[in-house]
Amino acid sequence: MTDTVLSRFLRYVVIDTQSDPTSSSQPTTEKQKDLGRLLAAELKAIGVEDAHLDEHGYVYGTIPANTDKAVPVICFCSHMDTAPDFSGTGVKPQVIENYRGGDITLPGDPSRVIRVAEHPELLNQIGHDVVTTDGTTLLGADDKAGIAEIITAAAEIIANPAIRHGTIKILFTPDEEVGRGVNRVDLEKLGADIAYTLDGETAGHVEDETFSADGVEIEITGVAIHPGFAKGRMENAIRIASSIIARLPQHMAPETTEGREGFLHPTDLEGSMEKARISLIVRDFTLEGLKEKEALLEDIVKDVLRAYPGSSYRLTVTEQYRNMKEVLDRNPAIVEHALEAIRRAGMEPVRGSIRGGTDGSRLSFMGLPCPNLFAGGHAFHSPLEWVSRQDMEKAVRTIVELAQIWEERA
Ligand SMILES: [Zn+2]
Repeated sequence: MTDTVLSRFLRYVVIDTQSDPTSSSQPTTEKQKDLGRLLAAELKAIGVEDAHLDEHGYVYGTIPANTDKAVPVICFCSHMDTAPDFSGTGVKPQVIENYRGGDITLPGDPSRVIRVAEHPELLNQIGHDVVTTDGTTLLGADDKAGIAEIITAAAEIIANPAIRHGTIKILFTPDEEVGRGVNRVDLEKLGADIAYTLDGETAGHVEDETFSADGVEIEITGVAIHPGFAKGRMENAIRIASSIIARLPQHMAPETTEGREGFLHPTDLEGSMEKARISLIVRDFTLEGLKEKEALLEDIVKDVLRAYPGSSYRLTVTEQYRNMKEVLDRNPAIVEHALEAIRRAGMEPVRGSIRGGTDGSRLSFMGLPCPNLFAGGHAFHSPLEWVSRQDMEKAVRTIVELAQIWEERA
């Protein structure tokens, strides 16, 4: 019996790989290695001879080139962990063959319904085989769909010598969902020039833009004094911090922005009369936009402080991640080849941006340019998560085409 992308996917999702943001170990949960060991063994079985799981929980493998051309080394990458937001223990996938349309009530918890009104992408899945959970766990299509697609494509590339390609690298990472997916990746060992994560949603989509992101800490020192003798002297740091937050522009918040708009967003606040601290995150698609928002924030702080001559502030900006587009624009072929691969796989490509960051944005700035390709999953991090066999097959085709395009155009 030969493995299909669906049979692989169903085998991987039942292995619990939830990551843990509170853990300080690497990987954050040891159980992620259970899947890592299986994937290394499966890669070896299809002919990826050097496949292995390292001590940090990463799986590496190489498909040697079968061409004499100087083709850039491309890497396909997915993450093995599932989100801490919802249980990934005891996943019971169900396959709805030949989906007829309509809402899908999940059998293990009938209060969980995947409604067409909330998931309009289901309208494009009529006649497809749709995989869901029973409603009591997440599915883990994010990102085990990506893993199943990469391994299925690898098997096809190795088995068919007519597919000409350069050296292909495979990378499966732990802990992406807790923001530590590339902390221990060994880029020298990987030896890739270009990478593609398969971690996006709708079939045909490529994401080559993410937010640029900074964190800001504002520390305010007020003037503390006994409330009984405070008149004209006390400068309460709690009041100062509240005034600053009250003056943040309403139209520049996550809850009032979309598309390519950025925002200023307070995430934490603590205070006493003497000292207060505000934590914020700043997001924008351009560096100028990011810096403008930070300048605006500091202007607000200074302006508020004018009424408190005895008080002072300290504002610290920490870089979090940067828009990968800055790196990808230096080599337009990376995204253009992906768009062409999607066309050859029978879809109309759609280029998009992510209102967030990805491992790809960090990899891009570590020297490995890395846009994000669709993996086909929907409703990530929830018990309503679903993916169709046909969309996973489209991702497999896209990977195979992409490998060939890089060889063709070398
Ligand atoms: Zn993901």
